[in-house]
Amino acid sequence: MLIKSNQIIRWIELANAQIDRQKEYLTQLDQAIGDGDHGINMTRGFKEIINKIHQTAYDDVGKLLQDIGMVLVSKVGGASGPLFGTAFMKAGQVLKGKQEITISELGQAFQESVSGIKLRGRSQMGDKTMLDVWEPVTQYIQQNGNTINFQELAFYAREQAENTKGLEAKKGRASFLGKRSIGHLDPGAVSSCILFETLCSILIEGNVTEDVKRGIS
Ligand SMILES: [Mg+2]
Repeated sequence: MLIKSNQIIRWIELANAQIDRQKEYLTQLDQAIGDGDHGINMTRGFKEIINKIHQTAYDDVGKLLQDIGMVLVSKVGGASGPLFGTAFMKAGQVLKGKQEITISELGQAFQESVSGIKLRGRSQMGDKTMLDVWEPVTQYIQQNGNTINFQELAFYAREQAENTKGLEAKKGRASFLGKRSIGHLDPGAVSSCILFETLCSILIEGNVTEDVKRGIS
């Protein structure tokens, strides 16, 4: 299976719609252990991305991802803009010049995202951050390659986000709460989960379309 820019654009459109739909929920999650701006920040960021990517024609998957990252870094405040922005920019650097990418290349790109998030956030797995979704999801993609089941990956991403509930926050504002952060979901892990769930929906759709073209179904 190959992924092209138009699928990435459809992914981001779906993610934008889903983040907008869950804005209040993301805000509530951040009110519990942070400063309550995550829903607003992510919604604003994705609206800006949509404006940007609808103004430009993209063949290059890497350039598209880099532009998405640049918008997040430059337009979104708080910790989430720079961290999500870094994730997209790093993935874009790996894929620069490519008009279509394999699942294995997507995994390599996300591996760079994970390294970028770790460096920028000085975080590691188990700190109750977005990394607790990004790192296992990336490993899952790398381990499964072309045999990947995107429905299962979507469930897996949700499970990883749910797991942050049991963790004590080690980074950001939530870490000031210490053990009182336990029992709450990490907002960045939940919005990361939304990103991966929507990516999976688009790629499942893509697979079905290819099968129909080949006359399989
Ligand atoms: Mg916040």
